[in-house]
Amino acid sequence: MSSTTREWQALDRAHYLHPFTDHQALGEEGSRVITRAEGVYIHDSEGRRLLDGMAGLWCVNLGYGRRELAEVAAEQLRELPYYNSFFKTTHPPAVRLAEKLCALAPDHVNRVFFTGSGSEANDTALRMVRHYWALKGKPRKQVVIARDNAYHGSTVAGMSLGGMAPMQGQGGPGVPGIVHVPQPYWFGEGRERTPAAFGRECAAALEAKILELGEENVAAFIAEPVQGAGGAIIPPDSYWPEVRAVLARYDILLVVDEVICGFGRLGEWFGSQHYGLQPDLMPIAKGLSSGYLPIGGVLVSDRVAETLIEAGGEFFHGFTYSGHPVCAAVALKNLELLEAEGVVERVRDDLGPYLAERWTRLATHPLVGEARSLGLIGALELVADKASGRRFDKALAVGNLCRDLSLEAGLVMRSVGDTLIISPPLVITRDQIDELVTRARRALDEAARRLTAVDHG
Ligand code: PMP
Repeated sequence: MSSTTREWQALDRAHYLHPFTDHQALGEEGSRVITRAEGVYIHDSEGRRLLDGMAGLWCVNLGYGRRELAEVAAEQLRELPYYNSFFKTTHPPAVRLAEKLCALAPDHVNRVFFTGSGSEANDTALRMVRHYWALKGKPRKQVVIARDNAYHGSTVAGMSLGGMAPMQGQGGPGVPGIVHVPQPYWFGEGRERTPAAFGRECAAALEAKILELGEENVAAFIAEPVQGAGGAIIPPDSYWPEVRAVLARYDILLVVDEVICGFGRLGEWFGSQHYGLQPDLMPIAKGLSSGYLPIGGVLVSDRVAETLIEAGGEFFHGFTYSGHPVCAAVALKNLELLEAEGVVERVRDDLGPYLAERWTRLATHPLVGEARSLGLIGALELVADKASGRRFDKALAVGNLCRDLSLEAGLVMRSVGDTLIISPPLVITRDQIDELVTRARRALDEAARRLTAVDHG
């Protein structure tokens, strides 16, 4: 290891508290130092080039190193680096971005509230749905139904809406009035049934929860089209149509968290469009700027926006960086490039089906119980026994082993327990998809070799 890498690691260890990191373990191993990136590749301080199978944190949809985004940012920094949009003020970048977003969003969505991140977007959505019902004269409609193992961010509201037990075990209690229903994770929780039956069962659990709480107390249901951080969980085909049918029977708002699925990940501009959903609110972030600058927001349907505007007076909510001009200018350019280059259509018509064909071939690997993908999100379920789907002993941490071996093979994948995940930049080529799958297979082969060695003592 070079002395510069060692210096970075020492300073990092001494001063930098990282998000989602066990610092004891990090102290022993030392951080990987990423210094630059282009296209779908990142480079570390040791001069190694890795294929970024995660698009950073599911966000670099347009790939790294786009000069157009850097130039727009520089121009905007010179023109107007900051101004807010509180108190009856606005500025051109935020207005233009709002117009563009609403043109891309479903027809019944014509307004956007800007935030700095996906977590803030979900905080905003929570306050908005409760405020909406209060304005409608139904202040008891307060409860938000979310799903087990959901991820909606790290702020207090984000963590409370999320369904991740380890997060909720720290720094709570969370926000009251949030309950959870089962997630449509067929491989993990429903394999004794057919996927179709399991999808219907999860939708029925939502309906049972609404009835248990009383419709008059329920404000909204929040969900991601495909769960990302929970494990790239693609619901059974029956799930969303059944959930749609359930929601049609009750007067409850639907919040579709598009933070990962938005901006082309599933081959449509929004995951809602892939599943034919009519959300009342859509939290967005990540791919909105391809991660180049921090920006998020909530797309607001006419139904909610009109009530807020006509009956709401002032909504006492907003962030210093809501609609930040430089972030907005970069986000707008990002959307224009995604559109001009046909990136979303290519994911739908070419790259998504191509990845599905190559990725599902990994299902024949002895360690893989299921290989699934949709658009450019995919997962591998690692198993000790293919026939029964039995998992490895948790102590072996096979997911982390495969993730580390994948890095050695030159590919960034993420592990969630014993599920491996990919979500590459949407500008990946077919050849690079082949390279990604080859490297993933190499990691699996090496893991299988090591695990067999463990088995045989
Ligand atoms: N919602 C979803 C679905 C996410 O995946 C994330 C981030 N992984 C968030 C919200 C939170 O976004 P941020 O990290 O920008 O606050």
